[in-house]
Amino acid sequence: MTAIQVWNQHEIALASAREADARARREQRQANSTRPRRPSQHHPDEWTERAACRNHENPAAFFPNRGDWRTEQTQAVLALCRSCQVRSECLEEAVRLADDHGIRGGLSGRERRQLREARP
Ligand code: SF4
Repeated sequence: MTAIQVWNQHEIALASAREADARARREQRQANSTRPRRPSQHHPDEWTERAACRNHENPAAFFPNRGDWRTEQTQAVLALCRSCQVRSECLEEAVRLADDHGIRGGLSGRERRQLREARP
């Protein structure tokens, strides 16, 4: 094996190690990611202690994609959210902060926007 071939192998191994390292860092970032999160996961207010979404096993389910609104999972999340003890607090905050992303306060983002726009 020539020195150039050894060097090339070394470069390939190095690139592969860098790629694996970058992948590991990306996975770690995703694991520590702050999104998607529900109010109960990042909000210091007392009411979040009673949030139905607190410790939900799949926070991403609160952020359905456009075509997922009729799925069983999304409907279950909506039902959970609508029955939440702190729904009114959560909804008020979401409307006040113009948080129109995902399911919150028992409503979709579009419903919250409509509610906000309908207010005087
Ligand atoms: S209303 Fe929904 S989003 Fe808001 S705290 Fe309750 S379960 Fe979470």
